[in-house]
Amino acid sequence: MAGVGGPGPSRPLPAVRPDLGALEGYHSPQVDVEVRLNTNESPLPPPPAWVEEFRDGLAAIPFHRYPDRSATGLRQALAERHGVAPDQVFCANGSNEVLQCLLLAYGGPGRTAALFEPTYTLHRHIARLTATAVAAGARRGDFRLDLDEVGRVLGAADPVLTFLCSPNNPTGRADAPEEIARVAALAPGLVVVDEAYGQFAPHSALDVVRGGGPDAERTVVVRTFSKTWSMAGVRLGYLVADPDVVRACELVALPYHLDAAKQLAGVLALRHVAEMEARVALVTEERGRVAAALGGLPVETWPSDANFLLFRPTDRPAREVWSELLAASVLVRDCSGWPGLTGCLRVTVGLPDENDRFLAALTASLTGA
Ligand code: PMP
Repeated sequence: MAGVGGPGPSRPLPAVRPDLGALEGYHSPQVDVEVRLNTNESPLPPPPAWVEEFRDGLAAIPFHRYPDRSATGLRQALAERHGVAPDQVFCANGSNEVLQCLLLAYGGPGRTAALFEPTYTLHRHIARLTATAVAAGARRGDFRLDLDEVGRVLGAADPVLTFLCSPNNPTGRADAPEEIARVAALAPGLVVVDEAYGQFAPHSALDVVRGGGPDAERTVVVRTFSKTWSMAGVRLGYLVADPDVVRACELVALPYHLDAAKQLAGVLALRHVAEMEARVALVTEERGRVAAALGGLPVETWPSDANFLLFRPTDRPAREVWSELLAASVLVRDCSGWPGLTGCLRVTVGLPDENDRFLAALTASLTGA
């Protein structure tokens, strides 16, 4: 038996899946700055009452047991909030994992997902991670959906999933209900409306799901606790859809993927709707102020229904402006290398003093004032 289990010649590591070779990860640099306006989080933490209730609830969790696999309480609370049945709600570790479950369940080799760029880059990224082909169409110059292009792409690709993002990250505007209805009428499969910033927008595709109309069964709305609920650190997202879609996602989610602390955090957050709405109101007001100030600077900007603004410096390279903001300890998102966004930066709307710091640094960078 000599040699069995002993040190043998070292073997090279296996190669990763060949289709992953050309993929880059999705990273926003997490540098240490005073004013962090790069990842569209809430500028305020959850309310103190939530922190207290969470702490008390944690002490009562039986941590030696697996959590409730069906997340019964959380789904019940979300269903009540949205006026749907609990079997229409599926929860996961952030809305990115919700998107991943949809793609695992409905995508995969030989299947296609459609999207319209520029849009949230993770739709494309997760599609490729799940070996789902991507059919990408272009938005119009003003970043609205081009319904002729939508018709062309959906007709040619026959996608099982069509992704919309409303309000659209990183361009800001929500798709109009008529536009979403038109896409749903054209789409052969599911229409996934990513509403990570839904509370900032004047309307929601939840009305389609609740409405029971011809497109209700094929419409999926994805939401997150990471933005308006001030809980990016918790990693909790969900979808609202037909119960069959929920069951499909449950097929591909790992057992007990939603830990007990996370389920508690979500249930408790839903008891603080008024504070959430107050945060949304504050950010929305500040968004107006920042947008007005950008209007007086040499930048191109677009209307936003979200908690961020996209802008393009007209006289300076975006990368230089980004670096000068960073030197002033203000971090924004450099989107200038993303498809269709040459020269663009994206700023998250923060607290009034953070927005002042951003505007002062941007003014200095663009005008020398
Ligand atoms: N969808 C969109 C449009 C987003 O902007 C984000 C966050 N950047 C997400 C989904 C993912 O959010 P999370 O996984 O934190 O819920």
